[in-house]
Amino acid sequence: MLNIVLFGPPGAGKGTQSEKLIEKYGLIHLSTGDIFRANMKGETELGMLAKSYIDKGQLVPDEVTINMLKAEVLKRDNPNGFIFDGFPRTNAQAKALDQFLAEIGTSITSMISLDVEEEELKMRLANRAKDSGRLDDADPKVIQNRIDVYLRETSPVKEFYAAQNKWIKIDGFGTIDDITKRLFDTIDAL
Ligand code: AMP
Repeated sequence: MLNIVLFGPPGAGKGTQSEKLIEKYGLIHLSTGDIFRANMKGETELGMLAKSYIDKGQLVPDEVTINMLKAEVLKRDNPNGFIFDGFPRTNAQAKALDQFLAEIGTSITSMISLDVEEEELKMRLANRAKDSGRLDDADPKVIQNRIDVYLRETSPVKEFYAAQNKWIKIDGFGTIDDITKRLFDTIDAL
């Protein structure tokens, strides 16, 4: 199985690039943010809980997020592999993911980070807010909080994969097609 963690700050282009990767490599895309938003829309208990964190730009607690992710993986029969988008976002999530994948006889192939500067991220998020309808993209204070949470809690997850020689950084600046090409080249070389 090819299991990729697509990593990067909010607005780095993880969702956009995931679409390209699932098409080319036949992978299953698991975006914890998308799953939370679907639950918010359906007004499930999980959705209500997630909303109270997401609207403030805070992380949903690890236990809730990990259990949800495991359940989503187990729903799929004989996958070619997964793209984990927006997960893991803490070291505890990364450890839990490694342990869980080992239990089901697989592992993470690589974590690929999209590297984008903060000013560019803010611009992309402000643009996305115009048509995404995402409240967490519309408020500059919430955006700043998400970036701060990323720098403080999520960015260190790179070290977890670097220690296993699984961390690859690519330049996330440029056109969508430029970045897709860099990703394809990186994955083809794995
Ligand atoms: P995203 O769509 O990846 O930008 O995620 C939107 C929001 O969902 C984040 O700001 C968090 O509040 C929440 N979220 C998504 N993934 C996770 C995760 N792995 N751990 C905790 N919270 C998450």
